[in-house]
Amino acid sequence: MVDEQGKILSHRDFCITFDIDVNFLQYEATINAIPKAWLNTMKNAGEKVEDPMPSYFRQIRKINKPSKMVYQTLRDNITTTNLKSEGKWTQKLQLEVDEDFWQDVYTMPRICTKETRLITFQYKIATRILPTNKLLYKCKLKETQLCSLCEIYTETLEHLFFECTVTRSMLLELKDWLLRCRIRIDLDPAAIILGRIPRDQEHRDLISHIYLIMKYYIYCCKLKYTAPIFRQFQQKLRLCYTLENMNQDPFQRRRNRDKWEPIHDNLIDPEA
Ligand SMILES: [Zn+2]
Repeated sequence: MVDEQGKILSHRDFCITFDIDVNFLQYEATINAIPKAWLNTMKNAGEKVEDPMPSYFRQIRKINKPSKMVYQTLRDNITTTNLKSEGKWTQKLQLEVDEDFWQDVYTMPRICTKETRLITFQYKIATRILPTNKLLYKCKLKETQLCSLCEIYTETLEHLFFECTVTRSMLLELKDWLLRCRIRIDLDPAAIILGRIPRDQEHRDLISHIYLIMKYYIYCCKLKYTAPIFRQFQQKLRLCYTLENMNQDPFQRRRNRDKWEPIHDNLIDPEA
């Protein structure tokens, strides 16, 4: 927007230089919005502006689909790793992390469900931003940092979703119930908390989805200060199953049916 002497371009010069047609009023409004101090700095700098049009601007004008290029550039600049939270999880759970570990953690929720609320919930756990009493106490938003379920230990993510005796008894009931459905699970914190199910485990999508629904249910109970009940959790499972079976897309419906198939009978008959 400035010429070689650091002076603001007139509306006409701006349109000619950049070969774009911009409304006069909008241009003036933008110029007027620039703080005076900045304008003085530009004038005083007196530096020669080599090329008033940035290279990416030229590139954008040359191609047919500029939004695709802008999206790609933005994507390339976004760092996909959450090193701080990953380091903390590795240390807290004493994880043995292979090269696919974190990729699995971030992709599994989207593979096992299409429910945005669950996907977001799991992402908050993985990046350690889901509020627990420990965090809320630190921020002076809660009077205690004790677990809302057992009221004995500090409520951290690993306590709430794995170590707490209340959660533990839910997990043990789940293990027994899945065994009756001929699905064997190990109570592994990486699988339960982070949803990282070993690649050789059968029914990965289903197990990951079940863990996710259970964590969400436990978290809702914690917020309401109510004790989680396994039967109630099974009802939540049934509701998810029913909703997924109502999917309008026949391909998705078939995929969902295959996913739920191993526990279908036991889910329909609560006494099983
Ligand atoms: Zn507890």
